[in-house]
Amino acid sequence: MVKQTIQIFARVKPTARKQQQGIYSVDEDEKLIPSLEIILPRDLADGFVNNKRESYKFKFQRIFDQDANQETIFENIAKPVAESVLAGYNGTIFAYGQTGSGKTFTITGGAERYSDRGIIPRTLSYIFEQLQKDTSKIYTTHISYLEIYNECGYDLLDPRHEASSLEDLPKVTILEDPDQNIHLKNLSLHHATTEEEALNLLFLGDTNRMIAETPMNQASTRSHCIFTIHLSSKEPGSATVRHAKLHLVDLAGSERVAKTGVGGQLLTEAKYINLSLHYLEQVIIALSEKHRSHIPYRNSMMTSVLRDSLGGNCMTTMIATLSLEKRNIDESISTCRFAQRVALIKNEAVLNEEIDPRLMIVRLQKEIQELKDELAIVTGEQRPEALTEAELLQLEKLITSFLEDQDPESRLEVGADMRKIHHCFHHLKKLLNDKKIHGKSTVSSEIKDQDCQEPLKEEEYKKLRDILQQRDNEINILVNMLKKEKKKAQDALHLSSVDRNEFRHSQSSPFPPGNPEGPRTSSSASTQVQDASTFGYRSTLLQRKTGMREEMSLGRQEAFEIFKRDHADSVTIADNKQILKQRFSEAKALGENINEARSKIGRLKEEITQRHLQQVALGISENMAEPSVPDLLEEKLRSQLEEEKKRYKTMFIRLKALKVEIEHLQLLDKAKVKLQKEFEAWWAEEATSLQVNSPAVKSLSHMKPFQTPGSQHQESPLLSNKSDVNAGKILPSSCPILHSQEQNRTSASLDDSLPARPTSSIPLTGDSQTDSDILAFIKARQSILQKKC
Ligand code: ADP
Ligand code: MG
Repeated sequence: MVKQTIQIFARVKPTARKQQQGIYSVDEDEKLIPSLEIILPRDLADGFVNNKRESYKFKFQRIFDQDANQETIFENIAKPVAESVLAGYNGTIFAYGQTGSGKTFTITGGAERYSDRGIIPRTLSYIFEQLQKDTSKIYTTHISYLEIYNECGYDLLDPRHEASSLEDLPKVTILEDPDQNIHLKNLSLHHATTEEEALNLLFLGDTNRMIAETPMNQASTRSHCIFTIHLSSKEPGSATVRHAKLHLVDLAGSERVAKTGVGGQLLTEAKYINLSLHYLEQVIIALSEKHRSHIPYRNSMMTSVLRDSLGGNCMTTMIATLSLEKRNIDESISTCRFAQRVALIKNEAVLNEEIDPRLMIVRLQKEIQELKDELAIVTGEQRPEALTEAELLQLEKLITSFLEDQDPESRLEVGADMRKIHHCFHHLKKLLNDKKIHGKSTVSSEIKDQDCQEPLKEEEYKKLRDILQQRDNEINILVNMLKKEKKKAQDALHLSSVDRNEFRHSQSSPFPPGNPEGPRTSSSASTQVQDASTFGYRSTLLQRKTGMREEMSLGRQEAFEIFKRDHADSVTIADNKQILKQRFSEAKALGENINEARSKIGRLKEEITQRHLQQVALGISENMAEPSVPDLLEEKLRSQLEEEKKRYKTMFIRLKALKVEIEHLQLLDKAKVKLQKEFEAWWAEEATSLQVNSPAVKSLSHMKPFQTPGSQHQESPLLSNKSDVNAGKILPSSCPILHSQEQNRTSASLDDSLPARPTSSIPLTGDSQTDSDILAFIKARQSILQKKC
């Protein structure tokens, strides 16, 4: 963009007589800004101009005095403008001055000598010369010639000019598009390929020009004429076209009507001339004033046509033509004043570039063809525009397998073929839209699911939810129990050491004190329980001890253990089957021994009797009333008999004790079943109450509406064998922590790694081991939760 004010130049017309000397002076000493001083002659002091002032000074870009020839004018004024037009900017040169001051001579030139050629022919010559020199661009030149007479526009290049009267010619009218661009209807554009063609058009227009005689100048014009050179340029192969217009304007005389001394038709003409210039002046005043939003371009045809030249997209130059004769001093001063105002107008010239769609299409078509050729060379195959049916089918298969592939690294390989790539995108879009229409989850959410894991089925969700619920209940029951335990332990600390021993004894011994087996078994069981300090070990132990409870979840096993200690103090928790078996075999062996002893006793008794009878028979035969010496053999038999009797008695007592013990052990088994039943009932009760009250349960309830407390009491899915079996199945695989990590984890490390949410609702006991167990459960629950999510 080029910002600049309208350049103003002054040209003084040569005077016929030398008497005019002293009327003006040109000060060229001020090198940067030359000035023209007009000295008011004394005899004019009472006239039009303020008589108090003797001289007027006006600054111009440059002042061309009488001796300046047409070549100088062109070189200094027109050539720079022509150059900027060649560069693509709009340009305007207009001549302003009273009739006979040399406007036409400056713009068009004199007809007498070749050297009198004015700006138009010289500019045409210069432009065509430049166009010929510059082979880097393709230029197109058009000419239009407009005359504005009495506010009507006429096309001076209309061939009907010669044959028709002015009134019959079609008038040039102004049209404005939505972007406020001015278009001139009925103004013909003539293509000029050479300077000669362009000059011919100028000549044609000049001959058509309206000429009327005025008293002041025999060849003066009372119309405005705008000769326009339209120049288009573009680089070869480019679709960008630059358009530039150069208006060369020869205005009508600026003198006031009073001065012309005409009447009738001529007066009307003069009035219109002035009216037209009056509007020009209005526009120029408006433009030179700051903060004026409205510029009255539309008031006259000329200002409308020259709108761009005045304060718009144009580099504009004004030539003030002055006829500095004594009688024209006042008009000359007016012209200079006008020029001073014009000098204040700022224009902003921009390059007028536009893309020619026609050229663009041609260029793109060419480019496409070139690329196709290049591609064919690279790939070695010619690609038609559309894909074949087989190719489309193949692509859709590829897309389907790509979407079904669970591997996140999988790719959709279609090769470097844009047709195929585009088709894939279109197909995917179609699939996506189809999904949306059917209200199903979007592809993206499916992809998200696939990214995570296999989507969980509804049934699995339900199971997991149930397990979670169950675990929460377990945790809460355990916590309550452990709290009670802790309290109990604290109470025990207050007892004396003797009392404590007794207390411990009574708590741990399931046998009556008189039973010789009792203390050993009791101490062994008690030690086992106490030593089993880790949860995992205890669980394993419990499972080992209570084979029937393998399907029990770990939480329930733990609860059952504590329940037993609370509710069955007199019953051993040890498995009695082995002892029972031992006792049975012992009793059997004892029975056999007793029977043996009994028969042995019988035999000994028989032997003693036989011996005694033999001794008696011997005494009768020898006539002896009594044997003189005691029978040693009989004595020996009798002592054996006594021994055997003692043994029998001992064994019998032992067998009796064994019988009692066996009966006791059998009773214990029954009690154990009873205890388990009691525990189940208690567990169900606890779980139900938790279902209603526990914040942990409540916190879960937002996930899905759960069963009502009443229905749970009837048949709680959490406590049923089925859910226990589920727990047994799911927990070990989904919760490896319970098996591999729980023994090593401390509560602190768990605290660090646990997410915040579940712990907030679980009351901890303060005991690190207990808490560790609880936290293991919580971790298990969290694991299930994550899996679910
Ligand atoms: P305008 O167009 O302003 O009415 P013209 O250009 O017709 O005035 O000039 C009036 C007369 O003065 C013409 O005959 C013209 O040849 C002559 N003339 C004007 N300016 C010059 C000049 N600089 N040198 C020589 N003759 C001139
Ligand atoms: Mg003229």
